[in-house]
Amino acid sequence: MTSAEKRGLLIVFSGPAGSGKGTVLADLLRDDSYRYSVSATTRAPRPGEVNGKNYHFLTREEFEARVSRGEMLEYTEYCGNYYGTPKKEAEEVLAMGKNLLLEIEVEGAYNVKRAYPEAVMIMLLPPSYAVQEARLRGRGTETEQKILERLARTRAEVPAVVDYDYVVYNREGEANQAALDIRAIVRAETLAVRRNADAAEKYFEQ
Ligand code: 5GP
Repeated sequence: MTSAEKRGLLIVFSGPAGSGKGTVLADLLRDDSYRYSVSATTRAPRPGEVNGKNYHFLTREEFEARVSRGEMLEYTEYCGNYYGTPKKEAEEVLAMGKNLLLEIEVEGAYNVKRAYPEAVMIMLLPPSYAVQEARLRGRGTETEQKILERLARTRAEVPAVVDYDYVVYNREGEANQAALDIRAIVRAETLAVRRNADAAEKYFEQ
């Protein structure tokens, strides 16, 4: 089996609002071995967000119909809206041997890990809570109430890092370093013996 035929890695990528997930993901996605899982959501698009690219924007009825048809790999309700990972797209990408990035919050992350124990769980953190708050306010895309809601959520989310496999820090102006750290994690995981149990068998094949 060549590496191209090997199943891709399922990467769960979480981080509190304002951790800079988007910037780090954009860096990773310049590499053809990575794909982004476009989630479905019932929240309204933010300025500049494109349907089918950032999210599949659905009504609550459409979302619930998809869940009842078993089309979501996982889903959750977060700050009053549904968010979920379309199953078929994810399976197709992994079968192609591409590494699939699931940018999801911690409840969804736990659900993925239960269904796919081989998933690699990475949490991205800003250098501190104070920096996170400043970034969130600087973004200027949310109302004060939404900002407070997301900051409150952070208190519950960040301690979940103990259940993740890796923590990566996104320091000021160093998103490229965070992306490099993730590439290193993915490289090491790809070479892990538990993912290459057939290494000896393949060695003697040729
Ligand atoms: P936002 O509204 O800022 O785009 O996303 C809010 C939160 O929902 C983020 O923590 C993001 O990671 C999470 N999220 C996005 N898509 C999904 C998904 O498909 N499933 C789950 N469980 N969470 C998601």
